[in-house]
Amino acid sequence: MAQLSDDCFAQDGRLMRVEEAQALLGQVISQVSAAEAVPLRLALGRILLEDIVAAFDVPPHDNSAVDGYAVFFDDLDPKAETVLPVTGRVAAGHPLDRPARRGEAVRIFTGAPMPAGPDTVMMQEDCRLEGERVAIAPGIERGANRRARGVDIAAGGTVLRRGMRLRPQDLGQAAATGRHELLVARPLRVALFSTGDELCEPGAPLTPGKIYDSNRSTIHALLSGLGCAVTDLGILPDRFESVRAALDAAAKDQDLLVTSGGVSVGEEDHVKQAVEALGKLHLWRLAIKPGRPLALGQVGAVPFVGLPGNPVAVMVTFLTLVRPIILRLMGADAAAPRRFKVRADFAHKKKKDRREWLRVRLEGGGPGTWRAVKFPREGAGILSSLVEADGLVELPEDLTRLEPGTMVDFLPFSEVCP
Ligand code: AMP
Ligand code: MG
Repeated sequence: MAQLSDDCFAQDGRLMRVEEAQALLGQVISQVSAAEAVPLRLALGRILLEDIVAAFDVPPHDNSAVDGYAVFFDDLDPKAETVLPVTGRVAAGHPLDRPARRGEAVRIFTGAPMPAGPDTVMMQEDCRLEGERVAIAPGIERGANRRARGVDIAAGGTVLRRGMRLRPQDLGQAAATGRHELLVARPLRVALFSTGDELCEPGAPLTPGKIYDSNRSTIHALLSGLGCAVTDLGILPDRFESVRAALDAAAKDQDLLVTSGGVSVGEEDHVKQAVEALGKLHLWRLAIKPGRPLALGQVGAVPFVGLPGNPVAVMVTFLTLVRPIILRLMGADAAAPRRFKVRADFAHKKKKDRREWLRVRLEGGGPGTWRAVKFPREGAGILSSLVEADGLVELPEDLTRLEPGTMVDFLPFSEVCP
């Protein structure tokens, strides 16, 4: 477990492309979350901090894929029915206590260990039982219906990798190799504030000049979805001393401080000054739309992220830069999320040299083609556009004109907001 250097976000205020910013973060952010062992039942969604290596073959023995009769293929007549005596029985969990003999069939059930000897299993539907004997139709292949030892996992194979986020099937896989606990990252402790005198807590009456604080709910959910333990510290007024005191206190027992609003250069933007008074702050200017400068800094050794105030800019900057920061702090793999090609259903003009994200809804098109339909109003304050959207279309820096029908990169929210 590492600590970040004391000015890890240092940057000279240049306009940066997204990739450059992400690469820089990749260099300076390392894991701060300690590892803890948790039972499988509590490991869903957690970041795995060890490689899981199979100590033995899975399945550990050859077994039958069907209910039927285990036979020696060489005992079967390839052209006519073969009749064999049924001399043994193996059920799942109960191996035969002797090798099978040539010329006999052994009754076997799905998952039961193959007796030593037979190489093939006849499905019971393809057999006719005549008293103590079974009549087997011709035409089966050698080795049919037999599952080989180790076909799922070979001993020594890595089945789960450090840095991955655990899904239900991963927990099943861990169990299949005999694990009942896994080493995972402790949830990152994140303190969350909103800032702004205009903000009002949902549930309270709205007084003149105020709006409800929506960002805190969005960001809280984004953080929780990534597995953070969020401490909600409410709304801070636009007063230097209040913001300074709140950040200072939170830095004592948190791994990360996140605010929204108050980080542009307006005179009411006290967050910037407060962080500067307590530590270091850098405004990262990114060649992206939507998005205001992202404030990155440190209060003591604790990293600080100042998100913009506009709800759409919050979402876009969170997904592109803050999400990878959080994943890295937890020791997770912060590989770029997958984009999927869809057909743009709209024309669009954009400025060169900046990356742009458009909020789109998907509509089923012709066979295999999704069409991206753009939300008509584009303002960075229009939260309802995010609600309508299934994800974001990402337009590259060099593009200036998008013609309808062009294939574009689509980032589904489901890919990045678990
Ligand atoms: P600021 O960056 O503080 O200048 O805020 C930019 C815009 O975002 C202003 O219109 C704010 O009212 C709005 N805004 C800031 N914080 C929030 C919030 N927590 N919820 C909703 N809107 C906000
Ligand atoms: Mg403000």
